[in-house]
Amino acid sequence: MPVSNSLKEYREKRNFKKTPEPNQNGNQEDSHRFVFQKHDASHRHYDFRLEVEGVLKSWAVPKGPSTDPGDKRLAVPTEDHPLDYIDFEGVIPEGEYGAGTVIVWDIGTYKNMNKKDGKTISMEQAIEDGHVKFWLEGEKIKGGYVLVRTKMGGDKKWLLIKMEDEEANTNRNPVDTEPKSVLSRRSLEEIADQMRNEKY
Ligand code: MN
Repeated sequence: MPVSNSLKEYREKRNFKKTPEPNQNGNQEDSHRFVFQKHDASHRHYDFRLEVEGVLKSWAVPKGPSTDPGDKRLAVPTEDHPLDYIDFEGVIPEGEYGAGTVIVWDIGTYKNMNKKDGKTISMEQAIEDGHVKFWLEGEKIKGGYVLVRTKMGGDKKWLLIKMEDEEANTNRNPVDTEPKSVLSRRSLEEIADQMRNEKY
């Protein structure tokens, strides 16, 4: 099913679901999920997705996340994805949107760290404002990160930056040293081979 259709369906469900649930006004204790999906498309990149208000807000990060606060990693906003895409691994066939192999490089939960005058700002609002702070609890990636929208490229260029905290580490380079999926423990190549073999 094309992503646009599933999201449309999702939105319909969401509006339906919204009625009985009170608005949570960005409860800080609320933890939601995040994922970095490594995607071997025409250009290899990492799709960073944050669960926000029932969808996966998404950015393509060509170099993946850094644990060094001195690094600024380009992050380009992409389409919202439906929540159930969060643990997708496999091969998207040629000719389809996002064709190529995908693995779940890291997955976990995050906490909203956006505050103004002591009050929590919702993730949706922070994204709208172009300045988003969150604490990630993944297997490879932990600690505070900030996503900031720059004035370059007509809102299309954001930066993903590690914050200075106890999880900051200038010596680690997990993108290179821990390349495999945290779910299947396989590499992109192994997933692609496995799918090829299953076909025959
Ligand atoms: Mn992608």
